[in-house]
Amino acid sequence: EATQPAQLRTRGLLREFSGFVAVNGVDLDVEAGTVHALVGPNGAGKTTLFNLLTGFLKPTGGRIELDGEDVTGLRPERIAQRGVARSFQITSLFEELTLVEHVELALQGRDGLGYRFWRSDKALRRYRAETDDLLEQVGLIEHANKQAGSLAYGQKRALELALALALSPRLLLLDEPTAGMGVEDVARTVELIRRVRADRTVVLVEHNMKVVGDLTDRVTVLQFGKVLAEGPYEEVRNDPRVITAYLGE
Ligand code: ADP
Repeated sequence: EATQPAQLRTRGLLREFSGFVAVNGVDLDVEAGTVHALVGPNGAGKTTLFNLLTGFLKPTGGRIELDGEDVTGLRPERIAQRGVARSFQITSLFEELTLVEHVELALQGRDGLGYRFWRSDKALRRYRAETDDLLEQVGLIEHANKQAGSLAYGQKRALELALALALSPRLLLLDEPTAGMGVEDVARTVELIRRVRADRTVVLVEHNMKVVGDLTDRVTVLQFGKVLAEGPYEEVRNDPRVITAYLGE
């Protein structure tokens, strides 16, 4: 179903870990319906920023706004309820559940259905078409009834993307969606993100600069927890400060 893409903004976002400032006054502006990349050397603060945006970490200072509403410090469930979903860099699947079962669980979670409903005929009928559609979208339909544990690495990443999409997010956060993928899986993932961007906002952490160039409207470069540069990819990648930051890695 159609979703209304969210607009994301941070102002002076700050996160310290016992005196060490991992995210240091970040102002981020992500327009609704755009694909926005976060890039930067290791340790730049990208993961910490994602954890702040999803409520897994509380900021030490600053603000986070979704569609102009202050969501700073809200717990992960509350932020999820406002339409923010995330796919993780590390895989978090249940090896023995099938792909269909994974997607059904995600759909039931989205709709707030309790566990007694789980596996009832009614639930299965209700979610069959949507489950197949999601698995089709990520190129996994022919593996629908296999256990997740039997999938190849790139397929597991694709399943995780399906699980994030199952939540019908208005803001989709992707942590290195193409990491460890072969060329074909990378191309499929890029194509998929292109398609889903139509009715949502996407923020991704991505090291593959070809993917960043192919997909994104704007790029924010982080270094030492601060915004080093921000703008369209073509502009940012030619910025001497950005080139220096990467050479220094
Ligand atoms: P990136 O994702 O860009 O590689 P991170 O956000 O993982 O960067 O880390 C930014 C910095 O914050 C690093 O120097 C890291 O060591 C530090 N850091 C991250 N999480 C913690 C933590 N829980 N405790 C202490 N330091 C942390």
